[in-house]
Amino acid sequence: MSELLGNLECEYQKLTDGAAAGQTHLKKCLDDTHNFKMNIKKLKGYLAKQAQDAAGEDSQNPAKFMKRRQLAVEKLNKLHKQWDSGARKSSKLAIQQYSKFQKNAINKIYDFELDQVYTNQFPPSARKHVESAIGLHISRYNLCEIPEQDSEGMVRYLENVYGVNSKISTNFVEMAQMVRQLRQDNLDSCMAWCSEGSNLEFELHLLKAMFLLQSGDKSATYLYLLKSIPDFMTKTKKSFLRHRVAPLLAQLVISSETGLKLEEQRNKCIELFTREYCARNSLPFDSSLFLVVMSGIMSFQFFIKYRTLQAARHVDWTTENELPFNVKLPDFLTNFHPIFICPVLKEETTKENPPYALPCHHIISKFSLDKLSKNGTCNFKCPYCPVTAARSKTSKVNFVIL
Ligand SMILES: [Zn+2]
Repeated sequence: MSELLGNLECEYQKLTDGAAAGQTHLKKCLDDTHNFKMNIKKLKGYLAKQAQDAAGEDSQNPAKFMKRRQLAVEKLNKLHKQWDSGARKSSKLAIQQYSKFQKNAINKIYDFELDQVYTNQFPPSARKHVESAIGLHISRYNLCEIPEQDSEGMVRYLENVYGVNSKISTNFVEMAQMVRQLRQDNLDSCMAWCSEGSNLEFELHLLKAMFLLQSGDKSATYLYLLKSIPDFMTKTKKSFLRHRVAPLLAQLVISSETGLKLEEQRNKCIELFTREYCARNSLPFDSSLFLVVMSGIMSFQFFIKYRTLQAARHVDWTTENELPFNVKLPDFLTNFHPIFICPVLKEETTKENPPYALPCHHIISKFSLDKLSKNGTCNFKCPYCPVTAARSKTSKVNFVIL
């Protein structure tokens, strides 16, 4: 790869040689053309003057005038010939130079398989997971971008092309279908889907009222709000949502459709619906690919910093499945990643060294437990509190992902 890059740089250097001094072939052609233009202008001025003179004092001497005219024509022919041959020569040289660049640099870039030169290849076992993550990513985000579709065909397509489990893709296809309808101002299927008394239901009512108001039918808007909102409030006791209805009512009264935030409300409904749909069907709201890439982008600065430090201090990466530095990521990227650091060993618990709960409910790692209890042969005092614990009274802890 570096060889290719080196070659590209060298060829590029040749291509632009002289460019710094303003002397590429095309530049020369441009300069010549400019000079030619300037000379024609001068000639034009000269001829204009001759014409003036011919009409004036020199009118008695047509031979003199003819001679000068002949001179101008000859000069013009000479200039044109010069410019023409120069421009042809320059453009020929430029074309030669570019085709050389194409042959020596550009063609070589395409003359290899990416897999052969890319040094950080996925091992075949990881590749399978990456491909499946790509399939899920597409199923999660891109289906609603595709216009009307035959659902079964789409499920089959996702299975055949991306290997997405049909149980999962059936859900994503249905979700996409409803998002598409929401975007087309059709709330029926989403309204039927949402659970009664949910925030989604409330926001859909508001969206529907906005549609009615936008169409100019004020009495229908009013009747709709009257029918749906008090009923919703009574059922759910979510009276604090009143403040969301007030602006809409005010708009009804002052009869203005301009402040209607319809697009914003629609997006809110889509976001709420997507969240609820994913939760109800046990689908991840964000695709793993998105989370991984996002984490990578956010951590990138720490990797760069670490590299600088590593070079300066000659320290090396010692842990295989752990970064040697801390990366602070937002909750949505970490909250499904329970981490427990054993307070005794000051190390994160692992499969080999899982967390254990003492009878007082304090938690330490298995290695610490073995050490404190001398491999279960004696009782010991909890490192947090004065309660005495026995190895037999402890239990392994499994963190639950909430
Ligand atoms: Zn304790």
